[in-house]
Amino acid sequence: MGEIVRDFVDKDVFFKMNYATSCEDCAHFDSSTVKCTFGYPTAPHLKEQQLHDVKTTGMVAFCRTQEID
Ligand code: SF4
Repeated sequence: MGEIVRDFVDKDVFFKMNYATSCEDCAHFDSSTVKCTFGYPTAPHLKEQQLHDVKTTGMVAFCRTQEID
C-alpha cells in the first residue's frame, strides 16, 4: 500500500462547512462492512478520523476517488 497523503486545510473553515469528504459521504462506501467497494483502505477517510486529524494536525487525507452519494 502506498503512503497516505494528507493535505493542509483551514481548520476553522473545515469544521464550519462540514464538507462531504469522508467515506460515509461516498457512493462507494458499504456502511454495513465499513469497506470501500474498490477495496481502498477506509480508515484514513472515515469521518471521525478526518475530524480528528484536522483537529490535531490541521491536515486530512482526502480520497481522490470519492463520489458524493
Ligand atoms: S472511494 Fe474513497 S471515499 Fe469512497 S468509500 Fe472508497 S476509500 Fe472511501
